[in-house]
Amino acid sequence: MNASDLAGKRVTVMGLGLLGGGVAVARFLAQQGASVTVTDLKSAETLAASVAQLDGLPVRLRLGEHVDADFAEADLLIVNPAVPDTSPYLAKARAAGVPLDTEINLFFKLCPATIVGVTGSNGKSTTVSLLHHILQRGPRQAWLGGNIGRSLLGDLGDIAPDHLVALELSSFQLERLEATGLSPAVSVVLNISDNHLDRHGTLEAYARAKQPIVANQREGDVALLNADCPIVSTWAPHCPGTALFFSAQRPLQRGVWLDGERVLWRHDGAAQPLFARADLKLPGPHFLADAMAAAGAAALCGVEPAAIADAVRSFHGLEHRLEFVRELDGVRYYNDSKATTAPAAIAALEAFDSPVVLIAGGSDKKLDYHGFGRTICSRARAAVLLGQTAPQVRQAIEAHGSMPVHMMDDLPGAVLQARRVAQPGDVVVLSPATASYDMFQNFEERGAVFKRLVMELKP
Ligand code: ADP
Repeated sequence: MNASDLAGKRVTVMGLGLLGGGVAVARFLAQQGASVTVTDLKSAETLAASVAQLDGLPVRLRLGEHVDADFAEADLLIVNPAVPDTSPYLAKARAAGVPLDTEINLFFKLCPATIVGVTGSNGKSTTVSLLHHILQRGPRQAWLGGNIGRSLLGDLGDIAPDHLVALELSSFQLERLEATGLSPAVSVVLNISDNHLDRHGTLEAYARAKQPIVANQREGDVALLNADCPIVSTWAPHCPGTALFFSAQRPLQRGVWLDGERVLWRHDGAAQPLFARADLKLPGPHFLADAMAAAGAAALCGVEPAAIADAVRSFHGLEHRLEFVRELDGVRYYNDSKATTAPAAIAALEAFDSPVVLIAGGSDKKLDYHGFGRTICSRARAAVLLGQTAPQVRQAIEAHGSMPVHMMDDLPGAVLQARRVAQPGDVVVLSPATASYDMFQNFEERGAVFKRLVMELKP
């Protein structure tokens, strides 16, 4: 496919949203000379920030409703990855023979560079950011985009065949990538746990949705898989390319593994060290696993070990992912608002040797809190709970032991309560284990409010 093939085509973009993907694809299509209609069930008022970014472009807006003709009488339908496959409007497009694609599918079809894709239930953004940080120290120009919140469609004119693109890929994006038969040349799969079961139904269906990242690969491509994840470790038979593994728990013959304090790498030649455990500034075994995956992928792209170690040393992590906020009265405060799943919050509890005062809870995503309750009982001094899921988390705690649980109405109250119960040497972490939509716009707002409240605590 060439971008010029889009000229003159009637293209409907379904789902403008507020995350940028809808705006980027609409803008790109308009620039290619397509006749673009953008439609979203949300009102123009709700979507004002995105609508403003389309200002001046020849794009037709159909907001606050969907109209059958926009789906049945198009040459191409670009679907927001959040739209479920069961949408009756997709059925209308299919019945009329209109092909379906996504922003990321278009990018795969048009990108001339080597794509390194990263997926997983937890750790995607951290890993892909570190990967990009490392790739920038290698010999080839590197780009960062995808689900991390940056569409690279607008950069296609500057992306050359010898460049590298580090792309974060969600299960929703990968599910629709399947039909293209395309995949990254290097695919990293971090872990799979029960996330998004409200959309995918079962863990099996969710795992299958992610599989095109390796199943669409060809001979010569490489999949870097987590040997420590019960699901991902079984994926080698789904890989038409080479399957390599990374493990923070046991030595491997090939791939990336931990040898005492050093991370080793072996593919074709002899084993060589990539970085030392102490080089990584981020706390916890989970971030070590992410860094091992990023380093292995970078080594596959030809970055030298010394440059990898140097990059790992200078990576300070991302905002809202176990982000250090401040120390007060001997207590360290961390913002982990992006922990929207139980495994992410479990990772936060396991990241510290000191007792943790955990602030958790939020809107209900139908997650299983069994393991979370167990880890809270073994690692936390107290749990401060809020939001819709607070009763579920309390139940999960009570199923595993008895410990102080404080039920709070809001985040300001939770921060004050956490301060009251924390003792010098403790860590206070906001690691909600769920989404934020009952009280906040998104995890960024929740994290920002938490940081402000913590900074306002008086010594
Ligand atoms: P994603 O993009 O997959 O949501 P992020 O890098 O944004 O991942 O991190 C989200 C949350 O997941 C953070 O709380 C972070 O500490 C946690 N996390 C990161 N890597 C892992 C991992 N390998 N296993 C479990 N939790 C992780």
